[in-house]
Amino acid sequence: MDFELTEDQKKQKESFAELCLKEIAPKAEFTDREAVFPKESIRLLGKVGFLGMGFPEEYGGSKGDPIIKSVLGEELAKACASTYLSAGASSGLFGIPLLRFGTEEQKKRYLPGVLSGEKIGAFAITEPQGGSDVLGMKTNAQKRGSTWVINGSKTLITNGPVADYYVVAAYTDKGKKSDGISLFIVEKGTKGFSQGKSFDKLGVRGSPTSDLSFEDCEVPEKNLIGEINKGFVQLAQILSHGRIGMAVYSLGIAQACLEESISYVQERTAFGKKLAYFQDVHFKIADMKMYIDVGRELIYKAAWMLDQNDTQSILFASIAKLFMSEHATKIASDAVQIFGGYGFIKGYKVERLYRDSKLGEIGEGTSEIQRTIITKLIEDQY
Ligand SMILES: Cc1cc2nc3c(=O)[nH]c(=O)nc-3n(C[C@H](O)[C@H](O)[C@H](O)COP(=O)(O)OP(=O)(O)OC[C@H]3O[C@@H](n4cnc5c(N)ncnc54)[C@H](O)[C@@H]3O)c2cc1C
Repeated sequence: MDFELTEDQKKQKESFAELCLKEIAPKAEFTDREAVFPKESIRLLGKVGFLGMGFPEEYGGSKGDPIIKSVLGEELAKACASTYLSAGASSGLFGIPLLRFGTEEQKKRYLPGVLSGEKIGAFAITEPQGGSDVLGMKTNAQKRGSTWVINGSKTLITNGPVADYYVVAAYTDKGKKSDGISLFIVEKGTKGFSQGKSFDKLGVRGSPTSDLSFEDCEVPEKNLIGEINKGFVQLAQILSHGRIGMAVYSLGIAQACLEESISYVQERTAFGKKLAYFQDVHFKIADMKMYIDVGRELIYKAAWMLDQNDTQSILFASIAKLFMSEHATKIASDAVQIFGGYGFIKGYKVERLYRDSKLGEIGEGTSEIQRTIITKLIEDQY
């Protein structure tokens, strides 16, 4: 067992961290304040190969495994959570279903644009009546000749208003429940498909989120991803990637909170002393560091298991996501506390980090759903 990153991984981390610090972090405050989609940053992430990591070169990909993706992802989430979320939904949540289950034609048509950052992808499961209960979805697709006709609606979809391509989950045989869901590719501009307006959100304001609507939306037969009625099984595999991605989102935010807090307590004085001399501040900083380091190890373990195709990776993805997201929210709250009143003021980074942190407990399945999954997966062991 080796807990060290390799020399190559360390070098990649260092140069990517430098890029994030120079090119992405300076735009984060504006991206959040004005709720502007960071299209240029996503193009840059495509250009440097981040979006394509782990995808074959023939589709515009580059070398990489879930561990190095987590290592670099932390740097990106630390620099700008909005950019991280939109980039991950595009290349990861849209790209991975195609890579894992798509046809050669689908990979060639959609992956190069998305992995270069020129095109934007999205992934749509959640519906207005509920996101946790995936089997409660109403969107359906019916075969009519050589086309699939999709009807229904989705909500809270990352990149919803700006994406070019969407992976959409729909019932193809509702009576069969989990054996009756399929995944489809829907392109922007398809007749009967409309993108909603961006919601005004608490956090990750630069990552646009919206409704999607399908009214007799006809997509060609060839837009079905993988086998018909295998969507639920496919989702389980995709969501492991997504949950590790969401854990990394929380890790980056937590690490940013720790760094902001350490530099603030060394400058700010109260009662004639630097904040760094107060014991309660030590406790907060020590707890931050402890939860971040434990969370990071859990994430690397889950990422390693995913890379090994270990069946337990679903369990560890949920554990890592649950642990890191809940601690990141607490860490962000403590960082605001350390900053006192200024922590509550726009323009202070911890104020944004605090708002951004909450999504970690909701996206890719809420904390309650992660606890349910963990319990179900370990039931047999007791
Ligand atoms: C910024 C943002 C981006 C998002 N991006 C995407 C995206 O790209 N694609 C996508 O498909 N979705 C996306 N979502 C949706 C997200 O995945 C859902 O919000 C989430 O899964 C919860 O679903 P819900 O909001 O419908 O809550 P509900 O399912 O209505 O749940 C409400 C509450 O009830 C609890 N609850 C529900 N069922 C149970 C249960 N069985 N046991 C215990 N408690 C339960 C939940 O934990 C939650 O606290 C995004 C959401 C946000 C906020």
